Amino acid sequence: MEKMRLSGHDVYYATELRAGQRDLVLAGEEFHHLCRVARHRVGDPVAVTNGRGLMAVGRVKAIRKESAILEFSDWMEDYGESYLRLWLGVGMIRSQRFDWLVEKATELGVIRISPLLTKYARSRDGEAKAGRWRRLAIAAMKQCQRSVLPEVDAPMPLAEWLEQLPPSGPRLAAIPEAEMFVGHWICNARLVPPLELVALVGPEGGFAAEEVQLAQSRGFVGVSLGPRRLRTETAALLLCSLLLNMIPAKEGR
Ligand code: SAM
Repeated sequence: MEKMRLSGHDVYYATELRAGQRDLVLAGEEFHHLCRVARHRVGDPVAVTNGRGLMAVGRVKAIRKESAILEFSDWMEDYGESYLRLWLGVGMIRSQRFDWLVEKATELGVIRISPLLTKYARSRDGEAKAGRWRRLAIAAMKQCQRSVLPEVDAPMPLAEWLEQLPPSGPRLAAIPEAEMFVGHWICNARLVPPLELVALVGPEGGFAAEEVQLAQSRGFVGVSLGPRRLRTETAALLLCSLLLNMIPAKEGR
């Protein structure tokens, strides 16, 4: 697979895309976006991702009434992805703030987002929101030219989430009272990519003492994000951006 960099290419999403596939018929919402919103014409450069790590680059070959045919010349694996596979668990917050978090965490490179129900999680209106979060994640993935669509789970209790985590790999919890600053942990952890890391951030009301103990008993190390009390979504994005930028993106990406 040839290494190249996307420039102004608009990215579209087609789950059926395979490596080496020359032509693709784009229909439905993605066709609407290509033709009616972005107003692409035959010959325009475009890219398509399947959301599972593949990015294909090519041009618009033909436009019909309800679909467009795209023709590809290059295919790239893991385009726009970091070595770090970061899974973020975060206490449920109000709907609009969680929407914003899904969009930004996707842009930063998180691979999975789990909204968590905790003792002090104030907002529990997210149960019907999984479809909306998926659409937001798709739009953000396309906009930032990623090739992996992050999974966004339906809200679940913290204890249940802890049971689902991978058996090994570092786990960090943002705890305002923690003595170790996250920067200190990053400098001393000697992480070797590729790497899976799980990060946990509390809801607006914070974690209950027993939840901190439970997370610690499951291998979470508490880290501080500095002397100010940050909103949940600010804390989550700060933690994600520090972690995702400490390990360089793949060569040439
Ligand atoms: N009164 C709550 C407490 O003391 O935990 C404040 C919760 S804060 C608004 C929401 C979440 O963001 C916290 O549970 C924590 O995970 C994270 N957070 C906020 N500021 C932080 C900081 N300075 N260091 C570490 N985590 C922080």
